[in-house]
Amino acid sequence: MTRTMRSEPRAWRQLLAGEWVGAASGRTFEDLDPYSGEVFARIPAGGAEDAQRAIAAAQAAFPAWAALGARARQALFLAAAQVLERRADEVVQLMALETGCATPFARFQIQWATGLLRQAAGYPYLPGGEIVPSDTPGVFAMAVRKPLGVVCGISPWNGSLALGFRTIVAPLACGNTVVLKPSEDAPVCAGLLMAEILQESGFPPGVLNVVTHAPGEVGPIADRLFESPQVRAYNFTGSSATGARLAERAGRHLKRIALELGGYNPMIVCADADLSYSVDTAVFAAFFHQGQICMNTRKILVHRSLFDAFLERFVPRVKALEPGDPADPATKIGPLINDQALAKVRQGVDQAVALGARVLAGGTAKGRCFAPTVLVDVPADAPIHCEEVFGPVVLVEAFDDEQQAVEVANATAYGLSASIMTADVWKGITLGGQVQAGMVNVNGPTMGGEPQIPFGGVKDSGWARFGRWAIDTFTDLNLVTVSRDQRKYPL
Ligand code: NAD
Repeated sequence: MTRTMRSEPRAWRQLLAGEWVGAASGRTFEDLDPYSGEVFARIPAGGAEDAQRAIAAAQAAFPAWAALGARARQALFLAAAQVLERRADEVVQLMALETGCATPFARFQIQWATGLLRQAAGYPYLPGGEIVPSDTPGVFAMAVRKPLGVVCGISPWNGSLALGFRTIVAPLACGNTVVLKPSEDAPVCAGLLMAEILQESGFPPGVLNVVTHAPGEVGPIADRLFESPQVRAYNFTGSSATGARLAERAGRHLKRIALELGGYNPMIVCADADLSYSVDTAVFAAFFHQGQICMNTRKILVHRSLFDAFLERFVPRVKALEPGDPADPATKIGPLINDQALAKVRQGVDQAVALGARVLAGGTAKGRCFAPTVLVDVPADAPIHCEEVFGPVVLVEAFDDEQQAVEVANATAYGLSASIMTADVWKGITLGGQVQAGMVNVNGPTMGGEPQIPFGGVKDSGWARFGRWAIDTFTDLNLVTVSRDQRKYPL
């Protein structure tokens, strides 16, 4: 696609109870293309009334959806995967224009999301419980998994399509109905587009409802979603700061919340690692999607014996990564999502430099494109030393012994993903066991993940687990007993 082929911005609507509707207030907002700054789409600026309608629609649709047979439910998820595959080229363009996502990550997301839909199609056929031995003669006890009811999904903008689908698919496959509130930075690709795909695939009205809001206006919708007794659980992916606030809110109402949060992901390059493969891995893991993935490598710890050689190969490779227009299929690195994101990245780098860090590559921006950046000598008091800066910036540090590398890797509040490069796999597994991360990759990038894995973090990176482990989160385990005989009681 070229920029000249672009048409008028589309006016999207929210999906409530199977109907495409504007906001109750009639207001809309402009959803901007991060590369050009042009209006990509017009989006309903929803509020409390829209959230209430969405909750009521999900509640009304729940009994029939929960009772739908496994075969019928499976067919819907398989159909959705097919629709997404058929619409792949269009979806790639939408992700480029709405979120600045270049083609390689957009294609990855589509492949990931179709895999997720096809795997979830099998969930209705998984055992729905187990028989529990009873100490009482003649009593038959069953632990039965049941859907919760209405689940609220809150999605981020960064892996818009993949994480948008991850926000809704497991809850739906477990028999819940969903109210989805997508990020204001990706209301289409992390929300409305998925609703369109599920509707086209035949999902019944009210099973998925999407309510959108303008930047700075999440408050009234969030109040309704968190205070409604009809919403039983939350599936949140986003920053640790927001996650902590929402966990507190959910806790106040004794509701369950799945949290997938930020990361500060270390890569440890041991003295015996393959240097050339380590450099390839680092370039990909640090800069894919211009560093806007929760699993991007933020700090590379290199054994001192390899440090100079590593930088000699790594820095020119990073300098060669030229950001550009994500709508051009040849582009590999696109823009940051918005001006605030750009300002945060710039601030993180500037603070580090003011405190003595050296910039070996990048450090500059053109429009919203921040050049892939390599920092060394970052002092411990620079925030970027242990806090997530969500952009194309990586720190490189030398270490002398592996225990020291593990200590540095763990000296952050996060614990999402880590990678260890070594010729000795057992050493990799041993060090991996000492690194505080939900996902450890020996001789692989911090950045990756397939739909079936128990994706998730520890510490401030959250506690949710996806893959089939999500079934435990989005169902209740109920006990049902049956007594064969009349029982004798002590009273
Ligand atoms: P964010 O926390 O700013 O927003 C995430 C979502 O929360 C958005 O939909 C936003 O509208 C909503 N939100 C914000 N304040 C809210 C409130 N008060 N009430 C209700 N909803 C509210 O995060 P982001 O900028 O969209 O995403 C980037 C962050 O997400 C990074 O920290 C990244 O590491 C993290 N992330 C984690 C994972 C993971 O799987 N662990 C995946 C992707 C992104």
